[in-house]
Amino acid sequence: MVKAVAVLNSSEGVKGTINFTQEGDGPTTVTGSLCGLKPGLHGFHVHALGDTTNGCMSTGPHFNPVGKEHGAPEDENRHAGDLGNVTVGDDGTATVSIVDNQIPLTGPNSIVGRAVCSCRS
Ligand SMILES: [Zn+2]
Repeated sequence: MVKAVAVLNSSEGVKGTINFTQEGDGPTTVTGSLCGLKPGLHGFHVHALGDTTNGCMSTGPHFNPVGKEHGAPEDENRHAGDLGNVTVGDDGTATVSIVDNQIPLTGPNSIVGRAVCSCRS
């Protein structure tokens, strides 16, 4: 079992902790919670770079190691980092629960060391 964690923070008061686990070559399970977001749908993406010095602006594009188009998580043709949307409730919190095959934690296309951004969509 390989594990990774992303701690989200922003100058606008958004906070969250996202855990990633992967068993062998199986899918990666993504769980966690976010708070401080405006209610509604927010995109949830893995970006190419781990540089968060300027928030999501410095993290580069969506992680896309094999040169595909932007898409939805269920699409075959999508950026590996395209994890869809999370739904933020009226209290500003969201629970994340995703199982995905395109975001391994090991190997050449590993997402470890990159950034997670949750932007208003
Ligand atoms: Zn994308």
